[in-house]
Amino acid sequence: MPALSKNKDHLAPTLLRVAIPSPLRRTFDYLPTKDLINSSLLVPGLRVSVSFGGQKNIVGIVIDADNRLSEHKLKSIHAVLDDEQPTLTSEILALCEWCSRYYHYPLGEVCHLALPTLLRKPSPLPIKEKSFTWQLTTQGRQCNAQNFSRAKKQLAAWEAFVERGALSPEHIKVLDISRTSINALIEKGILEKITDEKPTPNTKTAFDTENPKALTLNSEQKHALDNIHTDTFNCYLLDGVTGSGKTEIYLQTIQKVINKGQQALVLVPEIGLTPQTVSRFQQRFNVPVATLHSGMNDKQRLFTWQDAKAGQTPIIIGTRSSVFTPFPNLGLIIVDEEHDLSYKQQDGVRYSARDTAIVRAQQQNIPIILGSATPALETLHNAISGRFTHLHLTQRATTSQLPNIHCIPSSDDSLSPQVVNAIRQTLAKQQQALVFINRRGFAPTLICQDCHWVSECQNCDSRMTLHKLSPTRQILHCHQCDTKNTPPSKCPKCHSKRLQPLGQGTQRSEEELRALFPGTPILRIDRDSMSRKGELANALEIINSEQPCILVGTQMLAKGHHFANVSLAVILGIDSGFFSSDFRGSERMGQLLTQVAGRAGREKHQGTVLLQTEFADHPLLQKLIHHGYSALSQQLLSERRLCDTPPYRHMAFIRCHAFQANSAIQFLQQTRQHCENTLSSSPSLQYLGPLASTIEKRNNRYYYYLQIKATKRSDLHYVLKTLCLILEKQRAPKGLHWLIDVDPQET
Ligand code: ADP
Ligand code: ZN
Ligand code: ZN
Repeated sequence: MPALSKNKDHLAPTLLRVAIPSPLRRTFDYLPTKDLINSSLLVPGLRVSVSFGGQKNIVGIVIDADNRLSEHKLKSIHAVLDDEQPTLTSEILALCEWCSRYYHYPLGEVCHLALPTLLRKPSPLPIKEKSFTWQLTTQGRQCNAQNFSRAKKQLAAWEAFVERGALSPEHIKVLDISRTSINALIEKGILEKITDEKPTPNTKTAFDTENPKALTLNSEQKHALDNIHTDTFNCYLLDGVTGSGKTEIYLQTIQKVINKGQQALVLVPEIGLTPQTVSRFQQRFNVPVATLHSGMNDKQRLFTWQDAKAGQTPIIIGTRSSVFTPFPNLGLIIVDEEHDLSYKQQDGVRYSARDTAIVRAQQQNIPIILGSATPALETLHNAISGRFTHLHLTQRATTSQLPNIHCIPSSDDSLSPQVVNAIRQTLAKQQQALVFINRRGFAPTLICQDCHWVSECQNCDSRMTLHKLSPTRQILHCHQCDTKNTPPSKCPKCHSKRLQPLGQGTQRSEEELRALFPGTPILRIDRDSMSRKGELANALEIINSEQPCILVGTQMLAKGHHFANVSLAVILGIDSGFFSSDFRGSERMGQLLTQVAGRAGREKHQGTVLLQTEFADHPLLQKLIHHGYSALSQQLLSERRLCDTPPYRHMAFIRCHAFQANSAIQFLQQTRQHCENTLSSSPSLQYLGPLASTIEKRNNRYYYYLQIKATKRSDLHYVLKTLCLILEKQRAPKGLHWLIDVDPQET
């Protein structure tokens, strides 16, 4: 990285351009401190503290330095916050700059997003405890199995050390080695504890060998792996049915990359980061595998980030924002379940981690693999048009066949006799059944049987869900604004006592199942039941023990898991998906159905999928059932082409919310006029709206948006860029907020 002070004819810089988290889309000029001027630290990405507006001390990032003389009297930065290297590496800074341009969001805000929370503040950083590993002593290396005649656990532990050299505390947890065994081996002089300032991965044993744990690939997998080249940028779509062994391809490609001494970044959806996924990676590799996700505290995230930057963590598995993790020599990015909605941030910088990852791979000239059984239509379009390399896995990797979906006509979501029967048979075969219903709580609403009053939220355009807190205590909860009320004892409108829960959520299905199958473990897996720490791990343990049980839950249960003994999947409550007002509605439903169905029969047993629906004849559903997701997506793509929607058009929303619907509408109307009349009359651009968001009123605010479509992306960006500059200067009406959403995913 060139030091800025050496640029520009070797003149010492007179001012610094600093990105600061503020709503303004520009950088701000400051004077450098004296000792910074000739310091080798003066490179882009440096973290400094400055005063800005009314704030005395905030973190900014140096973007550039300049020899200009400023006409204004400038303030000096207060201090340089980095001591050896700038916080943002040149790669991450380049990625932030792209994000800022593409999503039309202030660079300072994007830079802050890319930083661990603790680095966003100018305060001193916590010190990491020295890390340590256990290693075999010379004596330990000379042992043989006979030395452990009666101590089976110690033998297993010793073997693990022989295989891997050194093991960290995290590693011994994953490998299920007890502290008692470790202590016994230390006492016998077989193990020693090594504290290392900067532990480096055990390169000799980790990198040089073929991994003995790699599975022998089937011919489709082999073809896919052979076609993934790890030396340059290319985007691969690994389009493989559920259970086709995509993860095995990830693992073997990662092996190639770490063999070269490079690092790999694996992105997973928000709820995909289960202990099961992580241990699958940790069990495979002899090098550290770290995770980054929202469940970690700020300190843990900082330390993981620092280790990654220092090259001590060759493999990171993380959710959305880990796309900004720095590595000294990144060699591969994987985006698992690339179609997943959680990759798109829905507030602040509305970036897509998948698309940002593709740009990062391109900027760093490394390969990226997007994996899914149900690729997003945008991704498929890119694969079909040849921009991405399309790799197919059409068969399950195990002996089982993909399950077929059978429809069971039903007008409500209580379990039909056929379903109950199928669950009973599954349990009798000592197998597990999964019941999917995408609605948490007991019932989506409470209704008066006399006057048809329903429990609506006062602050939102939505109904309040009835939750059971205990057998006798209930609560009405608005999932939009989080308001919680005690349910009324009689109808607020007609005072009738005949109030009844209407419809079915996971809690009600759970209750129904408990009554039908007393004595069978019933595990409910949704956000409410899993909010307590360790709860998901407990549930997974029971599931993985393969004892007969019934799982009931939301999409938390539906995605990415590999449950070996689940042979029946029941799907309830998806009918509203047929009538979604969103043009992506059918795509999402096809993905969800395929993913849930994909949980059944993944290993030894043939799977069955039962879908309870009122619309069994729906043509799209028929297409999916008889011809699969791939055929459905072809059809949806041709519909998109006819309707001029993405991926055949580029799209952005100007979103706006205000306390009055009228002020939001008026603001967007004016914005539209302005765009159409003044900014660009390019025929490539089309405007629609203002339109109300799917949930128009949320927490007493009204949400509207203006849709802009373009045949040429550059036209869209030109309008957005110019518009931002204008809107930024104007004073928005009081209480009104606007923002830009590029490639919006939800209306
Ligand atoms: P996906 O990621 O495509 O859903 P997984 O990678 O979870 O699929 O694989 C499903 C199951 O198939 C796992 O139990 C995995 O161990 C097994 N599997 C994958 N590849 C092979 C292979 N080549 N030979 C045998 N089993 C395999
Ligand atoms: Zn009533
Ligand atoms: Zn509400």
